[in-house]
Amino acid sequence: MQNVVIIGSGCSGLTAAIYAARASLKPLVIDGHEPGGQLSLTTHVENFPGFPDGIMGPELIENMRKQAEKFGTEFKAGVISEVDLSQRPFKITAGKDVYETKTLIVAAGASARLIGLPNERALIGHGVSTCATCDGYFFRNRPIGVVGGGDSAMEEAVFLTRFAKKVTLVHRRDTLRASKIMQDKARANPKIAWMLDSEVQDIRDTGRGEVTGMVVRHNKTGVVTEVPVAGVFVAIGHTPNTSLFRGQLELDANGYIITHDGPKTSVPAVFACGDVQDHIYRQAITAAGSGCMAAIDAEHYLDNIPEHLQSA
Ligand code: NAP
Repeated sequence: MQNVVIIGSGCSGLTAAIYAARASLKPLVIDGHEPGGQLSLTTHVENFPGFPDGIMGPELIENMRKQAEKFGTEFKAGVISEVDLSQRPFKITAGKDVYETKTLIVAAGASARLIGLPNERALIGHGVSTCATCDGYFFRNRPIGVVGGGDSAMEEAVFLTRFAKKVTLVHRRDTLRASKIMQDKARANPKIAWMLDSEVQDIRDTGRGEVTGMVVRHNKTGVVTEVPVAGVFVAIGHTPNTSLFRGQLELDANGYIITHDGPKTSVPAVFACGDVQDHIYRQAITAAGSGCMAAIDAEHYLDNIPEHLQSA
């Protein structure tokens, strides 16, 4: 029987682990399908306080992991197939392993959405990317496509103009979802070309296993254009990793866990932190902060388990 199981080993899960371990709760962290979370897919992190010269994302995550281990956190690799929050102790199944826990911290993060084209996934790492900060550097002086009309797409397009010869932004409508300030910044950038009311129909690699172009269809005229690009950055939002909790925890319309009073969820003793419950800030530092809050609340809960739930 565990005091605390933490699902997810990104920035929020590891911070929760550090705090829970320092409270002598011997937390168990289950890595999930993307160990280290989004920071492990990032290069230079310049806005995490305490690192005036910046730090590489994977190094920051590795440091957090070591810090959590040092205070007694146990780690298990494994993808969780089932969670049962209907009874206490809660039951978590990962392959053949079943864990029982008095409290649960959900730090399962959010995953980047893909367009859903047949060869898109196969070309990830070969020209298709969901992270401009991670991969932009590889496209110096080459043409790049960015897909999406939200703040992420604007941010990525502007960032990519540092490296790219030209950035072609493809968005499915003629109005952007992005905030005015981000739109203005992107529109003022002469290296960005706009293909609005348009959708990427195909990503070409001409059998080379590397992106050579994107096929773009204008939604109103039906005109199809092949745009030569060496990279396609997909910036169409994220999906929170909450399918295991559907019907068990209260989720918002986009599937994010609804929290109240900090990290509390609709089920007592289940706490959520990081991007799984935050579609607005989505920063390493806010994820870490909410992980800290989740651990402190789990500790308080264990100190004062309500009488009717004492059986756990
Ligand atoms: P978002 O606001 O949900 O925008 C996603 C964009 O992708 C939309 O323009 C959407 O088109 C498009 N899209 C979705 N599915 C698509 C598909 N299958 N094919 C083609 N296009 C598709 O996501 P986001 O830009 O990642 O932003 C998420 C949140 O983070 C927002 O609250 C945003 O303000 C915030 N954020 C803030 C900053 C910042 O302030 N620095 C930076 C990044 C993100 P439609 O518009 O037609 O739906």
